[in-house]
Amino acid sequence: MDSNRDVNRDPRRALPAVDRLAGELAADRPELPAWAVTEGARRALAVAREAAAGGGEAPSRREIAARAGAEASRLAAVHPRRVVNATGVILHTNLGRAPLAPGALAAVAAASAGYSDLELELEDGRRGNRLGRLADKLCLLSGAEAATVCNNNAAAVLLALSTLAGGPRRRQVVVSRGELVEIGGSFRVPDIMERAGVELVEVGTTNRTHPRDYENAIGPDTALLLKVHRSNFEQRGFVKDVSLQTLVEIGRARGLPVMEDLGSGTLLDLSARGFPADSHAPSRLRTGVDLICFSGDKLLGGPQAGIALGRAGVIDAMRANPLARALRLDKMTLAALGWTLDALLDGRAEREIPVLRQLLEEPASLERRARSLAERLAAIAEVAPSPAPAVAVEADRAPVGGGSLPGFELDTWIVAVRPGAGAGAADLAAKLRRASVPVLARIRDDALLFDLRSLGEGDADAVEAAFADALR
Ligand SMILES: *Cc1c(COP(=O)(O)O)cnc(C)c1O
Repeated sequence: MDSNRDVNRDPRRALPAVDRLAGELAADRPELPAWAVTEGARRALAVAREAAAGGGEAPSRREIAARAGAEASRLAAVHPRRVVNATGVILHTNLGRAPLAPGALAAVAAASAGYSDLELELEDGRRGNRLGRLADKLCLLSGAEAATVCNNNAAAVLLALSTLAGGPRRRQVVVSRGELVEIGGSFRVPDIMERAGVELVEVGTTNRTHPRDYENAIGPDTALLLKVHRSNFEQRGFVKDVSLQTLVEIGRARGLPVMEDLGSGTLLDLSARGFPADSHAPSRLRTGVDLICFSGDKLLGGPQAGIALGRAGVIDAMRANPLARALRLDKMTLAALGWTLDALLDGRAEREIPVLRQLLEEPASLERRARSLAERLAAIAEVAPSPAPAVAVEADRAPVGGGSLPGFELDTWIVAVRPGAGAGAADLAAKLRRASVPVLARIRDDALLFDLRSLGEGDADAVEAAFADALR
């Protein structure tokens, strides 16, 4: 008897049925698709049931309905959707790194909307090589003997390690302790090496590695000397590392291949314009290194891809590795990367590749655009319900981001918005994130900073609209 009464008092029995909740939600939010409404109701009820089963208070009907609505909206929302990047960080990992050029997008559409000659030689009707043309262009641009491309740089590193040192013998790869880095998104050099089936041999210390550290570590099982670019941090103070050139000399003397994971690579030499020279892939290759690899969507400004350049023997072996098939490039990426390389070969890259245009925009031009944006924002702030935020134009500096050029900052111009008394920059930032075209800005000292460096020409309209909504 008692147990029966307990069941009747079980708060889970008071919860609505999925269909009932979904029906109410559908009536309330007709814009949501039916599948998302049903799943949202299911998830909200599961949470409510769990809370009740834990002996706690079951959420109210209103709370359940609100959660179901939020879950359904989240499920149905387009993802990824366009946002405006006003952070000034050109290669923002959370915002999709390099934006694609209109020409690259057109190439993707032209090559993928219908069928293509992806793996066919139209001349003789025989099977063709999907990467052949891309590899030719990469060699022309870099001076490499051979090239191949994977789905991303992590894949290129994995394939290279597996090819040069992996397999049943599990041979040794020598790396400096100062270069066992973690790149965002859980790419860790020791973990990749483990999965590539190679044995990691660490040499040197965190801050100092000498040529003799490599030399002493080389033994009969050594297969490769690896250098990894410190893409997202700098070491200063009592530090020393072995240059790629010296590592190549050690490798040559001991008959061992040398590879560099460059992380971010360029095919355009930007050193004369004040950029660090160590991202320039052709210069790295001139050291005689056997293999370098880098991302397609960092400083190169193309689609996500992992570009491997080096000796023909090494590249051929990578292509023959069965893993290559699992890591291969899809046709859309291939088309976008092909367009990007054409822009470089044709000398159009600085004008047409968004990342390069943003990197190279002159401060005077950024200032002009900052003044124009500030005028538009100030006009909105003036008529905002008091207290009105203050709008100012200021010079500033910003990093490039995305695992590129650590420690290097570009001069830039910003529009600084300081909310009036009682309002916080974080609140304003949250409202801008929830705008119909979300706007992301920097926050510093309770000011919201809109950096023109990463804002495209057409983005000012979206910033203005989001700002107007946020102050309403
Ligand atoms: C960014 C980076 C990677 C990973 O490249 P993805 O293209 O994101 O896979 C690997 N190594 C280094 C040194 C990097 O900077």
